[in-house]
Amino acid sequence: MSEAPQRFVILGGGTAGWMAACLIAHRLGQRAAVTLVESPDIGIIGVGEGSTPQLKAFFDELGIAEAEWMPRCNATYKNGIRFEGWSDAPGFERYFHPFPTAIDDHTAGAFLFHTRARRTGRDAFAHPDRFLLLSRLANERRGPIAGENFPFDIGYGYHFDAHLVGEFLRDHAVSKLGVIHLPRRVADCRVDETGQIAALVADGGEEIAGDFFVDASGFRAELIQQALGEPFESFAGNLFNDAAVAMPSPPGAGPTPCETGASALSNGWAWKIPLTGRTGNGYVYSSRYSDADAAETELRRHLGLLDADVAARHLAMKVGQVRRSWVGNCLAVGLAQGFIEPLEATALHVVHSTVSGFVDAYEAGGFTGTHADAFNSAIYARYEGIRDYIVCHYRMNRRQGEYWRANAQNQDLSDNLKTVITAWFRGDDLAEVVQDLDIARYYAPLSWHCLLGGYGQYPDPARLVAAETDLPLADLGAVDRFITGCALNFAPHDDLLARLV
Ligand SMILES: Cc1cc2nc3c(=O)[nH]c(=O)nc-3n(C[C@H](O)[C@H](O)[C@H](O)COP(=O)(O)OP(=O)(O)OC[C@H]3O[C@@H](n4cnc5c(N)ncnc54)[C@H](O)[C@@H]3O)c2cc1C
Repeated sequence: MSEAPQRFVILGGGTAGWMAACLIAHRLGQRAAVTLVESPDIGIIGVGEGSTPQLKAFFDELGIAEAEWMPRCNATYKNGIRFEGWSDAPGFERYFHPFPTAIDDHTAGAFLFHTRARRTGRDAFAHPDRFLLLSRLANERRGPIAGENFPFDIGYGYHFDAHLVGEFLRDHAVSKLGVIHLPRRVADCRVDETGQIAALVADGGEEIAGDFFVDASGFRAELIQQALGEPFESFAGNLFNDAAVAMPSPPGAGPTPCETGASALSNGWAWKIPLTGRTGNGYVYSSRYSDADAAETELRRHLGLLDADVAARHLAMKVGQVRRSWVGNCLAVGLAQGFIEPLEATALHVVHSTVSGFVDAYEAGGFTGTHADAFNSAIYARYEGIRDYIVCHYRMNRRQGEYWRANAQNQDLSDNLKTVITAWFRGDDLAEVVQDLDIARYYAPLSWHCLLGGYGQYPDPARLVAAETDLPLADLGAVDRFITGCALNFAPHDDLLARLV
């Protein structure tokens, strides 16, 4: 006799809610009956247009080809992030943080070796961009997909219109996976005497009952925080930004970039996300250092849109995480679960890991909470791991101004981050330190080296001495030739986009 399907009720139809609906319905098939409730009046946050390679894993798992979703979502490819103006060290005014990829094995060793030589006072070239293929591809506006004779997989992410991705996933969930979509505003939720959620209560009193509830209600966190009272742990002590202002601009002239721009401004940074048909822009800043009007004016000036008739959207950001993401019969995902500011565009990455890890744990426990504690510890550590890397950007900035100096002097650092920074400045083997701390699963040693090296955190150039001949540096000409040769296998970004339609 087959058992009745688990009734999952998801509150929220933003990207997080629809990703959760698709993954749960896809993974559990007939064993789950999934309903998603959302209020069109409240709407979605509608920002969040850059991803990591995890979004590719998500679409691959659902069996959705790029040609199917990318053109519908005005999506482009993303090789990584270009940081501009975070450092005033000569030669280090900008650097590129590429997604890690198998081909890096051929050149990253030279980069790591050079950073260590330079950290220990030798005159070695140690800017990351020259050593990594995806940086070169981004410079040349080549997309991350090689011809079929190139034998390495390349990791890449996407840029996309958040509203269109939500609509795409909704259509997929409803038409292909049998998810029920209920447009309702939820006014309350009924919690039984054991602390389990029994039902959502819509405006007008209609009850939507379920066995398991997913809180994807955005910053409102209606279930996990409001109904169940799970504490929210703020990261405000070491991540100062708590507001953003966003506005689109026409696409730039010339080939479409395949990188996110992250340019430092007076009191935060501006993102630049190239989509087909428009560019998404926003300024993420600290309201302690700038008011909303000043931030909007600074963003408009930065974009050359001071006099343009384009509306700006102002957003407040709640940065931190709930102590436990899975409480009783409720899982929080997306902004309801937590948010680390968008510098590395990790939010949807965490949504995927959360839902994926939850389904595994829930199934393994026979649809009980047996593995909830282990799951919660893993997700909690993931947030901390990502947060530390983002905090490191601010701590290591070399830019003038009150906001930037306060960040550079910030002493509210985790023990792991202190260990990483100390190891870098002591000239230790940072890759080994990152592995020993067990944090490479959040950011690989190469990413840490890109960040610290990219901001030019090296001894004063005047104090550098020539490298000893018995410890020869890498042949940079060979590195250049290797990267140049590899790059020839990659088509222009615009050609890749044209092939999708
Ligand atoms: C400035 C900024 C930039 C960002 N950039 C990135 C980025 O580059 N990359 C990235 O991955 N992420 C980014 N994010 C995060 C990203 O926007 C979110 O993770 C993503 O959009 C998912 O949001 P969500 O679905 O959790 O919430 P929302 O989009 O806010 O959706 C909440 C849903 O809950 C519903 N709801 C709420 N309360 C009720 C109720 N009572 N009854 C019925 N329905 C209800 C709403 O109607 C809505 O459907 C950014 C966020 C901000 C603030």
